[in-house]
Amino acid sequence: MKALVKFCNNYQLKLVSDPTLESHDDVLVKIKTSAICRTDQYVAQGLIDCEDNRVLGHEASGTVISIGNEVNSISIDDQVIINPMKACYRCDDCLKQDYHHCSNIQFMGVDYDGTFAEYVVCPANQVYRFSDLSFEQAAYTEPIAATLAVVYSSIHDHKEASIAVVGSGRIAQLTFQILARSGYTNVQLIGLENLQKQTSEGAKFDYVVESISTPNTATEDLFSCIRLLRTAGTLILKSRNPHPVQFPTMELIKRRITIESVYYAPFDEAIHFIENNLDLIDSLIGRSYPIEDHALAFHTANQSEANKTFFIFK
Ligand SMILES: [Zn+2]
Ligand SMILES: [Zn+2]
Repeated sequence: MKALVKFCNNYQLKLVSDPTLESHDDVLVKIKTSAICRTDQYVAQGLIDCEDNRVLGHEASGTVISIGNEVNSISIDDQVIINPMKACYRCDDCLKQDYHHCSNIQFMGVDYDGTFAEYVVCPANQVYRFSDLSFEQAAYTEPIAATLAVVYSSIHDHKEASIAVVGSGRIAQLTFQILARSGYTNVQLIGLENLQKQTSEGAKFDYVVESISTPNTATEDLFSCIRLLRTAGTLILKSRNPHPVQFPTMELIKRRITIESVYYAPFDEAIHFIENNLDLIDSLIGRSYPIEDHALAFHTANQSEANKTFFIFK
């Protein structure tokens, strides 16, 4: 099959062997569409550790074409979205069947082969059936789950809290929209271009949700996020900056700031959110390209932060 694989701090289109079921719990999915995410770009650039020849990609939907002997939750021909996180099934959390909190999570398209390919194999409990969504809408589940994670933080029971979402990209916009649509009444979106001004004006929020994701300015912008908080406020870290950043520990301690990090909301909740907010999802969907047009697709994904770029498979 054709696949986009990591190669020497870049990626290349290669012909690789079709994946096959590795265990009785696996499913084989024929990919219909797979979106380009910033994580894929970081992996391709070598900013996130990944072996050469790893198939990239992790935001995908498709159709199940083969299932292992012990799979009974999923059937052949089911339309599914894929959760990229593979649990280890061995750690203390996994032994309690709390796979969501597995301490040895492997990430699709980084630690094992991903979805920029015609087929992918994964355990059946990583796929979720859908019916009334397009493949593109369904493939949006992973970024929605990553954004909806904010609602599952300590913000959860504080609908009236003053919240600033800081960032300029699509995900910052999406975070703002998700909070507004989830019943939070006092949310402000602060673009990076306005961050200094807001800080100097002495704005004070109960929560600041960091959605910066620009590696080069992250430390300075994080300081500004902290200054936007009231004493004993909470900074929620959301973006996945591959570089280490500094924290002003003296200021954090003096002002008793809490730092909380979020990763994913449950995927079934993300699907539910998509089903109820199709207008929002459709406004974020950009162009689709065949995998052969990977250079143009990556270029488009880099240029246009506003909409999501997809690979589409016949
Ligand atoms: Zn992603
Ligand atoms: Zn585990």
